Amino acid sequence: MEKHQFKSSYTWKTITLNSCPFCGDKEPEFNHIGNDRTNVRKIEVRCKTCRVKRIDSSIKNHFEWLEDVAQKNWNQSPNGKKQ
Ligand SMILES: [Zn+2]
Repeated sequence: MEKHQFKSSYTWKTITLNSCPFCGDKEPEFNHIGNDRTNVRKIEVRCKTCRVKRIDSSIKNHFEWLEDVAQKNWNQSPNGKKQ
């Protein structure tokens, strides 16, 4: 399983995403939606090739926390096993 690493444009974090579990695309998109003013924050991780996506959202927590959640959830394989 290949990994894609990049700096978050919102926080100091480095994001590590596994390649797409369905088609193997190596660079899934990591999109921040919303902001601190609207109090709705979402992160969408999306595959450009097969268009699978998952969205994590948060009302109380900041993007910093949400980035960890989105990263972790994406990096789990669909059947729950580690690869
Ligand atoms: Zn894909």
